[in-house]
Amino acid sequence: MGVMRLGYVHARVTDLAEARSHYGDTLGMRLVHEEAGRLYYKAWDEYDHHSVVLDEGGVGLVKLGYKVERPEDLAEFEKRAQAFGCLTERMSKGDNLAVGDGVRIVLPSDHVLELYADIEVTGTETGTLNPDPFPRHLVGVGVPRIDHALITAEDPALSERFFAEVLDFKVSERVVTDLDGGDTIGTWMFCTNTPHDIAVINGPNGKLHHFAYYLTDWNDILHAGDLFAMDDVSVDIGPTRHGITRGSTIYFFDPSGNRNEVFSGGYMTYPDFPTITWTADQLGKGIFYISRELNERFTTVLT
Ligand code: CA
Ligand code: FE
Repeated sequence: MGVMRLGYVHARVTDLAEARSHYGDTLGMRLVHEEAGRLYYKAWDEYDHHSVVLDEGGVGLVKLGYKVERPEDLAEFEKRAQAFGCLTERMSKGDNLAVGDGVRIVLPSDHVLELYADIEVTGTETGTLNPDPFPRHLVGVGVPRIDHALITAEDPALSERFFAEVLDFKVSERVVTDLDGGDTIGTWMFCTNTPHDIAVINGPNGKLHHFAYYLTDWNDILHAGDLFAMDDVSVDIGPTRHGITRGSTIYFFDPSGNRNEVFSGGYMTYPDFPTITWTADQLGKGIFYISRELNERFTTVLT
């Protein structure tokens, strides 16, 4: 039993034509399905049907989907979420295109999270038989896969408890106001062997800070930065490195103002990975290791 990974990010965009240019031409995701007011994308190294869904109208997050190991896991997670005090509802096969039955949970931070075990598997562009290392005709950045999301919550400690107690996520890193019983102002949690599969920082409930794509290495981060310049993508910060997770990064905005990230590196996690603690006075270094300063946008621009 367990949550395997972030499977999809379902977000809102103000303009689908602009979103097509960003997610399709600049990031190089493949449009796998479209219907009135909605686009479905997948990245080239993802096996499942889609990983990003974009609805026309507004900005921010509609919901996050996390894929669980077995259909039987759904009932157990549902029971635990209810015991935690969360509103839940069942979703049926077909409620989400290509996705099977699932459980929809309203998090303590008001975000909607969906758990599902089945989604149509359409394969990667290189396949599973004698595969090439990458497809020859990638467009733009050619992002291989989504990696994590960072959301904001009035009470990050409560969100951390939810992900730990209900979904068995572990905490890789935590930022506290002080070491003696201080408040948690940010938490980075994993269910895979990467530094984070969800992160929560202090802020208004229900908001999106960013969602991220994993790139292979620092060179790919720089290459992505060059493409952002060519395509006039609004860049928030980077290329730089995070102290927290040790990843290299560029934060940038889609044309609607939703923050995206390309992320690379970071360490490996495992079930007995100890939690790394940062104190709030070192937060600048934690977020942007080299400049050691948070920019104004980092804490104020949310969708
Ligand atoms: Ca991850
Ligand atoms: Fe990130």
